[in-house]
Amino acid sequence: MPDVFADLVGQDEAVATLRHAAAAAAAVLRAAHPVAAGSGPAEVEGQPGVDPGAGMTHAWIFTGPPGSGRSVAARAFAAALQCAYGTGCGECPGCHTTMTGTHADVRLVVPEGLSIGVGEMRALVLRAASTPSGGRWQIVIIEDADRLTEAAGNALLKAIEEPPPRTVFLLCAPSTHPDDVSVTIRSRCRVVPLRQPPAAAVAEVLVRRDGIAPDVAQWAAAAAQGHVGRARRLARDPEARQRRDAVLAVPRRLTGVGAALDAASALIEAAEAEAEASVAEADAAERAALQTALGAGGTGRGAAGAMRGAAGQLKDLEKRQKSRATRAQRDALDRALVDLAGFYRDALTMALRAPVAPVHTDTAAMAEAGAQKWDAEGALRRLEAVLECRAAIEANVKPRIAVEAMMLTLWKG
Ligand SMILES: [Zn+2]
Repeated sequence: MPDVFADLVGQDEAVATLRHAAAAAAAVLRAAHPVAAGSGPAEVEGQPGVDPGAGMTHAWIFTGPPGSGRSVAARAFAAALQCAYGTGCGECPGCHTTMTGTHADVRLVVPEGLSIGVGEMRALVLRAASTPSGGRWQIVIIEDADRLTEAAGNALLKAIEEPPPRTVFLLCAPSTHPDDVSVTIRSRCRVVPLRQPPAAAVAEVLVRRDGIAPDVAQWAAAAAQGHVGRARRLARDPEARQRRDAVLAVPRRLTGVGAALDAASALIEAAEAEAEASVAEADAAERAALQTALGAGGTGRGAAGAMRGAAGQLKDLEKRQKSRATRAQRDALDRALVDLAGFYRDALTMALRAPVAPVHTDTAAMAEAGAQKWDAEGALRRLEAVLECRAAIEANVKPRIAVEAMMLTLWKG
């Protein structure tokens, strides 16, 4: 039976750190048990056999490129902290409920919109201060901590600065750059850096865990460029493969200005369609749930008051859903740009005769043709155009404008 860290692909160093911390945390609980009160991470220092420098602390940041497994690592660590044996055995109720997202003392914040608001954060911090019902730790996992609003970040900082004795904060962010995590929050946290897992390690987990055929797993792992979740989707979801094929057909289609602008429109519209499909189900379910919660019908003064409240709640919900749709669109577009960047990276490495495996094995011949036509310089200019487009969209340039500019460069070089 694999333990909770088994799915953390190619991250041996991080796993060693987390196992060590989980053991130290278990020692804290064991030490605190006889006295029952006044326990906390600070007591680690007083415990013989536990190295406080490498032990447990109450705030952590998991950093790494998208798909490297930041949230997988955070969740596995949470499970190890809640594990009855303190190891993350993968079998006890603490491990099991944490991994399936049903543990009463583990709260997961997944931002659906472009940012996590202060209201959400305050409520969370308040609940996180309560005594853990399972007797171990109160854990708050914040995915995409780089998407906290400034006010939300301040609310979180306050909690991290004055942590309740049994509360652990696990933050996930692309990096510890001040754009991603404020310097003050960073200074209170221990950082666990994750690296982009090698394709072979990703392929191995697809075969072992998901039962995917080895040749498909290898292709998907390379094409996903170290993104484990993306690799699994490519291996399993025919629609994801079709979308990727459409993106990789772009370079071939750029025959003039008109074609470049058409390609830009097609890319944007495909991202919109993909995003719409991904949020439609959740949107409808939430609307139905809200309507049920508010109750249909009813008369009298109470009902009129409830209706006024309902209008506000509905407006809130619409705002949240719109923000989530925008986010889903950007994510879909970004996935397409990463695929496209992989193609031009292949052309560049081929032009340089660099001894590295191509990202997209199935378009390697086309990349080779590009390499001959453009040389290394031309391939590099095109790769840079894709990366600049990503950066521009990240910096809030209107996606259509950024994508059109990129397509023109991809055509002209
Ligand atoms: Zn366990």
